Amino acid sequence: MSMSSVGRPTQPNAAASEGFTSLTGGRGLLQDEPLLFELGGWDKTGVDLDPPEHDASDLGDLVRREPIGLPGLSEPETLRHYVRLSQKNHAIDLALYPLGSCTMKHNPRLNEKVARLAGFADLHPLQPQSTTQGALELMDRLAHWLKTLTGMPAIALTPKAGAHGELCGLLTIKAAHEAAGHGHRRRVLVPTSAHGTNPATAAFVGYSVTEIAQTEDGRVDLADLAAKLTPDVAAIMVTNPNTCGLFECDILEISRLTHEAGAYFYCDGANFNAIVGKVRPGDLGVDAMHINLHKTFSTPHGGGGPGAGPVVLSQALAPFAPAPWIVHGPDGLKLVEEATDEAAQAFGRMCAFQGQMGMFVRAYAYMRSHGSDGLRQVAEDAVLNANYIKARLSAEMTPAFPDGPCMHEALFDDTWLEGTGITTLDFAKAMIDEGFHPMTMYFPLVVHGAMLIEPTETESRRELDRFCEALLALAKAAKAGEVERFTGAPYLAPLRRLDETLAARKPKLTWRPGPTTVAPAPLAAE
Ligand SMILES: *Cc1c(COP(=O)(O)O)cnc(C)c1O
Repeated sequence: MSMSSVGRPTQPNAAASEGFTSLTGGRGLLQDEPLLFELGGWDKTGVDLDPPEHDASDLGDLVRREPIGLPGLSEPETLRHYVRLSQKNHAIDLALYPLGSCTMKHNPRLNEKVARLAGFADLHPLQPQSTTQGALELMDRLAHWLKTLTGMPAIALTPKAGAHGELCGLLTIKAAHEAAGHGHRRRVLVPTSAHGTNPATAAFVGYSVTEIAQTEDGRVDLADLAAKLTPDVAAIMVTNPNTCGLFECDILEISRLTHEAGAYFYCDGANFNAIVGKVRPGDLGVDAMHINLHKTFSTPHGGGGPGAGPVVLSQALAPFAPAPWIVHGPDGLKLVEEATDEAAQAFGRMCAFQGQMGMFVRAYAYMRSHGSDGLRQVAEDAVLNANYIKARLSAEMTPAFPDGPCMHEALFDDTWLEGTGITTLDFAKAMIDEGFHPMTMYFPLVVHGAMLIEPTETESRRELDRFCEALLALAKAAKAGEVERFTGAPYLAPLRRLDETLAARKPKLTWRPGPTTVAPAPLAAE
């Protein structure tokens, strides 16, 4: 395999390192890492504390009798454990992270610097509002930018993820229907290609879910939608651009049909990165849409950690938005928290306090550092990068929707692997050996063996070339019959093929002492 065109020494042949095992379980300078409980002894602690002056008998019956089973490690041992674990995670700071639908874009360090300003970082959510005016102003400005960019009049900032935003949007829609005496509307329509969170959210709110068929060219089937828009439909949930990376060209007709049927149009805005600054969802007739700040607005995704999914709302839904929200009062900015007066119809709230303040600061810093023209360029470059990948990889791989350009992500199917004995999963595992995180696989479900690649605008042409050349070389190897390179991959990762289904279905979440674990010694008797 040659990658010399990008000026890097060739990787050692994967097969050549097969059969070599280090004596310690380490790999290069990467060490095998046991669990903290297996690492630490029971007989020591990480800190030296003088024996307490007073007898612990003050505690009476509450005195601890059993050891609590915490492993004892020194400070460097503890620190190294966590740093080593962090090295086993792939991160956007290490390399391209081409997960389609996830918008894994660079998290600018400027955002981090601003979020660490003491005036933001050290706030307490229960502080008197007279002392948090700056933070409220930032939230107000963020809300203003998001409403302007989407062309929507109202916003709920508190939802803490895209899926949480979907929940917020559907609860708002439910409240609006109930207020209008339309509680009998109990059905939500979702296209076949939808992200799994869409039907899950609808079901969680108590709605039944009906699928809308998709056309040959990967878009909502209008005739099927029209037929299914019965009087019991509360809302449709449509992603635009959709999860096939395509713009829903009939979006105006979709919203017209939906409103005509008395239903609301929930737009899954997770892919807003492709159209920010170019298209305003409010102009398309959208009633509610979540925005993933951790996608479009560059805040970190975290390890399932702090995302933020503000929801913009149409005039019709605004009165039902959850508390709190900010108003401009005579004494400055104020959070409306009580369900009285203007907030009487609010359906409740999505969480305690005011949402993910740290993410608000980062997203706002990102918006201000790009400016409105810069945000438009974000969308343009994200789409350009995806089309560059689509064009280059089409030399060896089969695009799922070959006609016309894609939006911010390029979708391939597995037709090109036919007859090779290699699956999408095998191909993805071989990418790990080449130093690339796999793309999103087997999603959307409507495309066989799907490979969904989203580069985002933050990758350079040089990095895109490096990625494309690695994938093209792998594709050629697959077609040349190098089956084991794929079916045995990854060869170079610390762990090889894992039983991912078992890990997901039966995760081991609690550590239990193994047969060789030395039991914690009982506490020394007083
Ligand atoms: C990421 C994503 C979601 C869910 O967002 P989370 O923040 O992960 O909850 C929903 N829909 C689409 C299309 C997405 O890409």
